[in-house]
Amino acid sequence: MQKITIAIDGYSSTGKSTIAKQLAKSLGYVYVDTGAMYRAVTLFAMRNGFVGGDRQNFDALVRLLPKIDLQFMFNKALGYSEMYLNGENVEQEIRKLQVSKYVSKIAEIEQVRYKLVEMQRQMGLEKGIVMDGRDIGTVVFPDAELKVFMTASPEARAARRYKELLEKGEAVTYQEVLKNVQERDHIDSHREFSPLMKAVDAIEFDNTDMGLKEQYERLYNYALRVINK
Ligand code: C5P
Repeated sequence: MQKITIAIDGYSSTGKSTIAKQLAKSLGYVYVDTGAMYRAVTLFAMRNGFVGGDRQNFDALVRLLPKIDLQFMFNKALGYSEMYLNGENVEQEIRKLQVSKYVSKIAEIEQVRYKLVEMQRQMGLEKGIVMDGRDIGTVVFPDAELKVFMTASPEARAARRYKELLEKGEAVTYQEVLKNVQERDHIDSHREFSPLMKAVDAIEFDNTDMGLKEQYERLYNYALRVINK
């Protein structure tokens, strides 16, 4: 069977990664969560005092970009890959709201995007990949055979993310999470380089009122249709 490239883009907390992970598993494809890469660079910037509070020193971050090593390592027990920053497993830390607060600022930096997009293209050279993010169908793989653009109302997305964070034991409020989702949407859609937008040939997929099973089945069928064409 021919292997294809599947690009899943969309707004924050639309459940892209959950569906992309499942899809990759059933197709025997590699799954890449590009948000984890932007989050890991953000964590690096926070730890070095380049961002946080009212601090902002993006020149220093850009100078140190060659020193940032990012690796995905597959965790057999969990069944998915975890993010490593300079050899350290940062999977838990990069998901915290504190990182979400700064990540869209870091993702605006042209040099950061350049570095990460290059890495992402390398990972997809052999196809057989499901990649999710904001610019996968528009910039990283404009020739992807299947492109999906996921949307859902901000309230539905914030409610899902709020529940997830509470389950992980983070002390957050729904309002705080909703504000973060809306702020990230705004920055991601209005930035100068590779803003979040639907590729002209992407399938728009609103999952506000859709359960996981239905989403998965629909996307899996789209994928089979393209693969068997
Ligand atoms: O997907 P996730 O919510 O983890 O992404 C975190 C942030 O990383 C996004 O809000 C966006 O600012 C940035 N991002 C991006 N381009 C991508 C993936 C993520 O700018 N391809």
